[in-house]
Amino acid sequence: MDIHFACTNCGACCRGHHIALTLGEAVPWLRDDGRLMVLVEAFLENGFGVPEVQREHAQRRSARMRCGDTHAYVAITLAAYNPGVCQFLTEDKRCGIYDRRPLVCRIYPFEINPHIPLRQEFKDCPSEAWEPTAPVICRNGRVVNDELLRLIERSRQADRDEIAAKAEICRRLGIDVAAVKGDGFATYLPAPDRLLATIEDVLNESSAIVPDLQTSSLQNWGLHATRPETLDRLAAMKASVAATLPMNGTFIGL
Ligand code: SF4
Ligand code: SF4
Repeated sequence: MDIHFACTNCGACCRGHHIALTLGEAVPWLRDDGRLMVLVEAFLENGFGVPEVQREHAQRRSARMRCGDTHAYVAITLAAYNPGVCQFLTEDKRCGIYDRRPLVCRIYPFEINPHIPLRQEFKDCPSEAWEPTAPVICRNGRVVNDELLRLIERSRQADRDEIAAKAEICRRLGIDVAAVKGDGFATYLPAPDRLLATIEDVLNESSAIVPDLQTSSLQNWGLHATRPETLDRLAAMKASVAATLPMNGTFIGL
């Protein structure tokens, strides 16, 4: 099946989305007075919390951390905090940083997560963007545009490459509680100045940090959940359960 698409520049995807950023994108975002949130989710090493079909992808972008008597795979996402309109959207609905816009913005309506298929009904793009006269961007579930494919792969690779550095950033910020994947997200809004300084420090030291992921995995992470059945399962697996989130974090249930 072919999916046709051509962006109409309507600007709808620049409203109300928390945009996942690479560490390299996060630094200029913060320097431009943007706010970033940290979203954390995790599943247990026995697979609790992740569908089997998603496990390989989820594991490759996660840090293995101690969690009580077991281990958890913790995925950490830095995202632009955009509860309303993106700070860079201009009045005439253009991107004010078009030439250096984040990878996630460049690949939309595709997603970093390969398990989210391209479905018109789940996207912000108006119906005119999907007219049959528009170029084909997806054929039988496969992206057909080479440049788009390269960008999607780059964003996925950054997700995998940066996990050790992100785990270290969380450790330095005092973030050590995740939500159970599928249950929700543990979200944190660190002070921008502190977050920027921490990211820059970690990036400057990153060659020393990456081989040290084994060491950081000695850090104990807690899991926060609200559903009684989830809490029962965590207790049965002797996972570390956190009743509250540090850093004034907020749990967003799914
Ligand atoms: S950075 Fe640009 S493309 Fe991305 S959400 Fe903001 S205005 Fe839109
Ligand atoms: S919502 Fe879709 S059509 Fe509108 S600017 Fe974003 S990508 Fe383009």
